[in-house]
Amino acid sequence: MYEEEKKMIMPNNLGRQYSLHAGEYKKKVCEVLDSGWYILGEEVEAFERQWAEYLGSKYCVGLASGLDALWISFRLLDIGAGDEVIVCANAYIACVMGITMNGAVPVFVEPDQYDNIDADKIEEKITEKTRAILAVHLYGQACDMTKIMDLAQRYNLRVVEDCAQSHGSRWQGRILGTFGDVGCFSFYPSKGCGAFGDAGCIVTDDQKLAEKFRIFRNYGSEKRYHNKMVGSNSRLDEIQAGLLRVKLSHLDEFNQERCRIAEKYYEGIRNPLVIFPRIRPGADSTWHQFVVHVPVYRDAFMEYLREKDIGTLIHYPIPPHLSEAYACLGHKRGDFPIAERYADEVLSLPMYNGMTEEEQNIVIEAVNSFRAG
Ligand SMILES: *Cc1c(COP(=O)(O)O)cnc(C)c1O
Repeated sequence: MYEEEKKMIMPNNLGRQYSLHAGEYKKKVCEVLDSGWYILGEEVEAFERQWAEYLGSKYCVGLASGLDALWISFRLLDIGAGDEVIVCANAYIACVMGITMNGAVPVFVEPDQYDNIDADKIEEKITEKTRAILAVHLYGQACDMTKIMDLAQRYNLRVVEDCAQSHGSRWQGRILGTFGDVGCFSFYPSKGCGAFGDAGCIVTDDQKLAEKFRIFRNYGSEKRYHNKMVGSNSRLDEIQAGLLRVKLSHLDEFNQERCRIAEKYYEGIRNPLVIFPRIRPGADSTWHQFVVHVPVYRDAFMEYLREKDIGTLIHYPIPPHLSEAYACLGHKRGDFPIAERYADEVLSLPMYNGMTEEEQNIVIEAVNSFRAG
């Protein structure tokens, strides 16, 4: 039986979400174990069908992780050495690795006041080498897909959407993942529709492309031991697919619950040092994270909350261009001042399904009682 540490309010609490429907998960795991079939079977097929249906996409292909969804997308769109891909400068490192694993070069664009790529700054970064825009819908909120799709059309660019943090979020009423050539999803446990291990998928309306993903994920073979291309092993397994079907059946309620927690934060938090997340007109958020900006005293604020047994996280403390892993790109501090400033001022408040009203009130009171100096 899952037991929590006493009192501590964690930034995320997966055990709490699990405990809301524990019986259903246990039943599903036993079903799959009893079936005697563990890789690429009925559960994966059913999940792919249901996820595509949920999004309104024609095809879904289950994969082993969100990173796989990204790098295999660029690989199968033939984007690699000598090509440039545009991505926000405050992205998660996996977004950038998905690009560079194929030998392509990430071209960073500053975020806007909504913490997503500033679509008005994309055009100036387009060169004759630009092949694609990676639209990362950070923290649960949509990028401006109208501007991004318009640029893509005018410059003949591919659009890959990274929806790892925005399962079920929308742009102008249309669900994310259905705008670009490919929508990439991670089902890492902390994500909206999280698995109980690693998992991911892509969605697309392009039948030929979907077929390529299906073959690529299984060593390039459609028929056992007949390999059409050099692929990878990126299979979604039956247990995770089965568990994801249970999660999907509750996804809308999970998203609604996090929206209610966000509303409570908006209503209750009153502290001039704390800037609320801004939501772009036309976007909605499923609140993967509730990210406030604390332009001064962020670290003292974080420590203050920790002393009150409230855990917070920073998404993300080091922008990819300053990461040791990307020293090879030759960027330096000052190249993307907005993304660098955001890294110093963002803070993610506790946000999880099953968060009690009492816990929400404790967070609000603690945030409101923090003073400068
Ligand atoms: C989690 C995440 C990924 C990577 O997903 P994994 O399943 O961990 O490989 C990629 N992009 C974003 C924005 C993410 O949040």
